[in-house]
Amino acid sequence: MRPEILFPLFASVTKLTGIGPRIGKAVETLAGPHIVDLLWLFPTGLIDRRYAPKIEKAEPGRIATLNLRVDTHEPPPIRRLPYRIRCSDETGEISLVFFHGKADYLRRTLPEGESRVVSGRVEEFRESLQIVHPDLIAKPEETGEMQEVEPVYPLTAGLTRKPLAKAVAGALSMVPDLSEWLDASLCKREGWKSWREALLTVHQPKMEGALSPSTSERSRLAYDELLANQLALGLLRLHLRRSNGRVIKGDGSIRERVTANLPFELTGSQSAALAEIDADMASNQRMLRLLQGDVGSGKTIVALLAMLSAVENGAQAALMAPTEILARQHFTTIKALLDNTDVALTLLTSREKGAERQRILGALEAGKVAIVVGTHALFQEEVTFRDLAFAVIDEQHRFGVHQRLMLASKGRGVDTLVMTATPIPRTLTLTVYGDMEVSRLSEKPAGRRPVDTRLIPIERLNEVTAAVGRAIDEGRKVYWVCPLVEESEALDVAAAEERFAALKAIFGTHVGLLHGRMKGKEKDVAMAAFLEGRLRLLVATTVVEVGLDVPEATIMVIEHAQRFGLAQLHQLRGRIGRGRERSTCLFLFASPLSGPAKARLKILRETDDGFRIAEEDLRLRGSGQVLGTRQSGLPLFRIADPAIHENLMKIAYDDVRLFLERDPELQTPRGQALRVLLYLFERDAAVKYLRSG
Ligand code: ADP
Ligand code: MG
Repeated sequence: MRPEILFPLFASVTKLTGIGPRIGKAVETLAGPHIVDLLWLFPTGLIDRRYAPKIEKAEPGRIATLNLRVDTHEPPPIRRLPYRIRCSDETGEISLVFFHGKADYLRRTLPEGESRVVSGRVEEFRESLQIVHPDLIAKPEETGEMQEVEPVYPLTAGLTRKPLAKAVAGALSMVPDLSEWLDASLCKREGWKSWREALLTVHQPKMEGALSPSTSERSRLAYDELLANQLALGLLRLHLRRSNGRVIKGDGSIRERVTANLPFELTGSQSAALAEIDADMASNQRMLRLLQGDVGSGKTIVALLAMLSAVENGAQAALMAPTEILARQHFTTIKALLDNTDVALTLLTSREKGAERQRILGALEAGKVAIVVGTHALFQEEVTFRDLAFAVIDEQHRFGVHQRLMLASKGRGVDTLVMTATPIPRTLTLTVYGDMEVSRLSEKPAGRRPVDTRLIPIERLNEVTAAVGRAIDEGRKVYWVCPLVEESEALDVAAAEERFAALKAIFGTHVGLLHGRMKGKEKDVAMAAFLEGRLRLLVATTVVEVGLDVPEATIMVIEHAQRFGLAQLHQLRGRIGRGRERSTCLFLFASPLSGPAKARLKILRETDDGFRIAEEDLRLRGSGQVLGTRQSGLPLFRIADPAIHENLMKIAYDDVRLFLERDPELQTPRGQALRVLLYLFERDAAVKYLRSG
């Protein structure tokens, strides 16, 4: 249960005064649904109103706070023109300009002959000075209420500066004093303020330097977040260690039949990973192992062979994929591989409904199914197993820690293998996975050729289209990935639909469309048609990012490549270069491309090594590639930046280890405070691993 002291912070943002449903919606898109989310929205800039020159000295372009006498109102002679109010001081004149200004309101706020303090951006217009729509107007005696330095927050569509600032201020006014969860000596050594003080300071920047992520206050808050994360991982680790595993050793009977049927040999690293997994499964401890391998490195077969150990033991195994498309693809691949065995395989997603679903659920419960492949549907309470012993979670970064474990809790001593194609830099593995065991597939299956990658300005779209046309005529398959529009799936889809229509007008029925808003059935139809070659050009949004396997696809066009994170581009490109033919990837960009953007894209031309790309992504993201954080697949840290706070990460890890040795149930005063921290950062799924709840 969430501690009572945090209740107000977890109320809806619409509970704040002045935040109605419409603004509430925009705030939610930007920050999140709860008041607490606004606390983590840190200022990205500031408006300094301390610049208070005389008019004569006021520099155009700067925000200034001026002491003015209101001289004359000039209502517009015709509607289209603005309402102008002439003002002055002893050094010169300036106009205040209002479009669609309401005369009576303006006469009330700025009466002729009186003095007012006005703040806003000074502009030069036809050789005189003006301020269009001043930010602030106050009587001289009221200036005490004006904030001299105002924080500026990132904005989103439908939200302007003022209501957002008001919402954040409202959220800050609700921040409680919480008992300190940090180690006293660490606080002292780092010179950190309390959580509340640090938070308030961060939201009241007085100068540019206060916006840096490495100020004392921001570091403290980043540490809090890292600590919450490590604590959740630490509790999970303890939980696993306490609960017994079981010994799973296959006799190899089914595995041999499957391997004999493979059209290839396992690579050295596939065999090594499998041996590590076998050893874990054979031990009495519960396995929690990460299988990391670049796109196309062949994780699926490793997972299948491991699942077969459980099956040979008479137990069940489950493989969970993040999307419907992937689940179906895994199902099809595995079905083919199990062709000459009698292993019962089934598929369970949200689309298996009614009587069919009941039949599947019954078969799982009765143990008539040995392997189930599915999506989130597998988590649901209605799903029960006769004897689940092994769970595989593909592309795990899409699932939270508790979701992974929910599947494991459906069996007895379940061993879990999580797989990811997002190579995590070594420095980060600790943060992201705690000390989970890691197997890496470092070799690519034999015969892969590097993808020829080129950067092309969008002005050459016609040439690209012509080249794509020639490729289609030669019978090749092409992916065309459409731009990612920030924060709006609807706009993504619109862009994809538009491109689809344009390309279809040229190439006719060979062109298909695939995006996240399509119904499951429609997606399958498009995928199947592309796989079978009835479609040769597939226009898609980033749904193709995760795991699709169409070896004959040899060309990929990515529009607005500069908008994607490096890791994501790498993932996308990994969809091609899977077969014997030479593959080409074209990054289209809108010129002019900034220096850093070009440097980023060039890395992808130079290397195909996912680990190196991940390191670069991390390094560059530190220099403000905000987009990357959402797309990189790392769990979202709201405050901490892994590239900047790496040293804090290590401290948090050690801190948690030491602490849990002494107080594994979080009973001491610091332990109690740490519980609150877990809730504050919404890592509270870990609380249920405490014996005392
Ligand atoms: P990922 O690691 O991205 O999930 P997949 O498991 O989808 O990769 O494998 C990619 C492709 O490589 C599949 O078509 C698979 O059959 C093939 N493959 C896997 N292992 C090998 C191997 N050792 N040699 C050749 N091809 C392989
Ligand atoms: Mg895969």
